[in-house]
Amino acid sequence: MPASESAEFVERASCLSCGSSRLAELSAGRFDEGAVARFLAEDPWGEHPAPFLRGKRWCYVACQECGLAFHRHVLAPAWNERRFSRWMSQEAIEAFEKPMRTPAHLFARAADHTAHVLRIELLTRGPRGSSAPRVLDFGCGYGGFLATCSQFGFEAHGVDRSAAKREHNLVATVHADLAEVAGVAPFHALTLFEVLEHLDDPRGVMLQLRDLLGPGGILVLETPDCSGVRDIVTRSDYLKIHPLDHINGFTPSTLERFATALGFERVHKPVALVTGEPRLAFRQMAKRVLRPLLRATTQQYFRKR
Ligand SMILES: [Zn+2]
Repeated sequence: MPASESAEFVERASCLSCGSSRLAELSAGRFDEGAVARFLAEDPWGEHPAPFLRGKRWCYVACQECGLAFHRHVLAPAWNERRFSRWMSQEAIEAFEKPMRTPAHLFARAADHTAHVLRIELLTRGPRGSSAPRVLDFGCGYGGFLATCSQFGFEAHGVDRSAAKREHNLVATVHADLAEVAGVAPFHALTLFEVLEHLDDPRGVMLQLRDLLGPGGILVLETPDCSGVRDIVTRSDYLKIHPLDHINGFTPSTLERFATALGFERVHKPVALVTGEPRLAFRQMAKRVLRPLLRATTQQYFRKR
């Protein structure tokens, strides 16, 4: 594809969650104008996407039935493949992730993974009896969460579309797609950390994943909280609803509605105390008591009905 060629987009004309065609435009613009053009220029890239996006428009809409917000136009499959392989080169990904590799970030992430492992162990005791929890992490990246699961004796499988990430993963069992993983189903728990916001068809993917989860299985969903984000003005808006990357903008209520419509029921996230600081442990326990008064988040636990 020569640089003079234009990226192709496909339209998502109905709601990704409830199927309604009553969509209201929240904001729109061009990739080569305003804040979006400026932020795109500042990001690290392999092959720079700007020449291919000249004159192209983005449009952020909200469903009038269920409230889910998303980008109406998404890259056509061939162009999305080019984005993964050439625009987001290995070097660009490393440059982008470098600020997240500080000791404080790595510590917080490992503690977070451990807390999820403790909760999943607790919540899956009924369905699995004395056998090891079998976990599928969809969109597992380099397998950081799977590595933690393995250390706790779980049987951990992952799926990731990025060949580079599969090859450099920290554990052995990372599959390229769901067809590959179907042979090792059913699982006791299914996790999607920072994945739903990237999917062209999140409902379609979740329907396939639901079938891989055993009866009473646990689903953990975590996405950025896009509450109040209606337009791309600041860098924080851009990071939350990046029109090439974060194409679905969930809030606590639209995330819960999305999962409920798929046959899951919300369960309370158990307290998992992973800290050496009594002050933080106390805060976690206080949160448990105050739960009804606190704002919901976009990290939610569900059980398959
Ligand atoms: Zn809807």
